[in-house]
Amino acid sequence: MNNNQSKNNPIQEQIKLLQQCPICKGQYDAKQAKVVEERGEANLIHITCPHCSNSILAVVVISQIGMSSVGMMTDLGENDVKRLRNKNSISEDELLDFHSLLQSNQLNFSK
Ligand SMILES: [Zn+2]
Repeated sequence: MNNNQSKNNPIQEQIKLLQQCPICKGQYDAKQAKVVEERGEANLIHITCPHCSNSILAVVVISQIGMSSVGMMTDLGENDVKRLRNKNSISEDELLDFHSLLQSNQLNFSK
């Protein structure tokens, strides 16, 4: 019986490809990686280096011949990336977050 799961690579496996920061050459901590968009064969991953605090956006592509990754430096945070990906529509959750943020600020200001 063959129980290998290689045809269905979990995100964690893909994140292992992103081992080293291109800027400071430090080792990434896989826990820092966030999957911004999951599309099966091409996933968009945002990772912030724990050593130099630079962020990169990486696209991990899974093909017949294996996995490969392309990374680029970004000064966007994880949430900014999500916003850009969804710039055609702002999600209700985002609106609610923003709204409650405004409300809590107002509460702080008006004593
Ligand atoms: Zn770094």
